Amino acid sequence: MKNYKIAIMAGDGIGPEIMQEAVKVLKLVEERNDVTFELMPALFGACGYFEKGDAFPQETKDICDQADAIIKGPIGLSHEESKKIPIDKQPERGALLPMRRRYKTYANYRPVSLPQSLAHFSPLKPEIIGDGIDLIMVRELVGGLYFGNKEVGVNDDGLRYVKETLEYDENQIRQIMHHAFKLASGRKKVLHNIHKSNVLKSSVLWNEVMEEVATEYPDVKVINILVDAAATLLCLNPTQFDVMVMENMFGDILSDQGGGILGSLGLMPSACLGDEKAYYEPSHGSAPDIAGKNIANPYSMIGSVAMMLEYSFGMVEEAKNVWAAMQGVFADGFSTADLSKPGSGVKMISTDAFGDKVVE
Ligand code: ATP
Ligand code: MG
Repeated sequence: MKNYKIAIMAGDGIGPEIMQEAVKVLKLVEERNDVTFELMPALFGACGYFEKGDAFPQETKDICDQADAIIKGPIGLSHEESKKIPIDKQPERGALLPMRRRYKTYANYRPVSLPQSLAHFSPLKPEIIGDGIDLIMVRELVGGLYFGNKEVGVNDDGLRYVKETLEYDENQIRQIMHHAFKLASGRKKVLHNIHKSNVLKSSVLWNEVMEEVATEYPDVKVINILVDAAATLLCLNPTQFDVMVMENMFGDILSDQGGGILGSLGLMPSACLGDEKAYYEPSHGSAPDIAGKNIANPYSMIGSVAMMLEYSFGMVEEAKNVWAAMQGVFADGFSTADLSKPGSGVKMISTDAFGDKVVE
């Protein structure tokens, strides 16, 4: 029997509520298979700061170091609440970026997927959704502006200024490109390379390295597209995309737009893969506005667990079963509040009822 150690970091805001449902699903997968999951809960995010004075406490690092995989809920506080935490101890700066750096989880897979039968969830017209949206964004996760040098000061004219650098070296670009090309090669063999090389030097290097890597994947057709144009086309014609590759901040922004075209950020799971370690998290934030109300959509968290089953444990069939179970809940006409607006015809259920139905 296989035994996997899983670090579980519920996080902040809606994190604990959606994590609880993901754990229900994980327990069922354990029951149905010749496998045991050793769940190791850990504090991460603002909860870590309030309890231990550190958003990424040493105990959590130790647990994550030992774990075969990490599942993480969203972290962060509302704009107002976050003023209670010093800037460098904030959940994103004090926990999220350090974790990405520690485990070198450079490849962030963010599926944006909606079958035709659920076109009514989307703000887009059914004719735009056509046979359904099924694309995956591959976002570089440990470079770019988020990790570059930061300088804040007062210049010679007495004006406050800030300087943040967007840095990549060719190896960083090469490794994310290999992920994207491999993924594209196993799917529709089309890769949309997202860039801004008409303005940014970083995109010029990005494209050069992309072209070098492309020679190793002659079966994949590359389509280059400016990030701003990609934003428009995601609304006007999202079905043209299959695999999209992009640098860190472009990926942050476009993937939230991905949630928008589906109808809810609650439909956005993700996998953050490194060569040695991987962690799994919803693409969205902690949604403080709806926290504690049992109304958040746990799809993103349960979907992240499905991605863990597939990518970290090779349990491809069980991952498919989890996706199918969630689609089954939608097919029966149920969803959480984000996707069941009055008049939509969708029956509203709570976060925990959604999890129960997935298990059922
Ligand atoms: P971050 O900067 O951490 O990505 P954000 O500013 O993008 O955070 P989110 O916390 O992702 O903001 O939330 C944006 C809005 O999306 C929330 O106000 C919430 O209403 C909605 N939302 C996010 N996740 C979910 C979810 N799982 N279920 C339902 N609604 C959600
Ligand atoms: Mg966001």
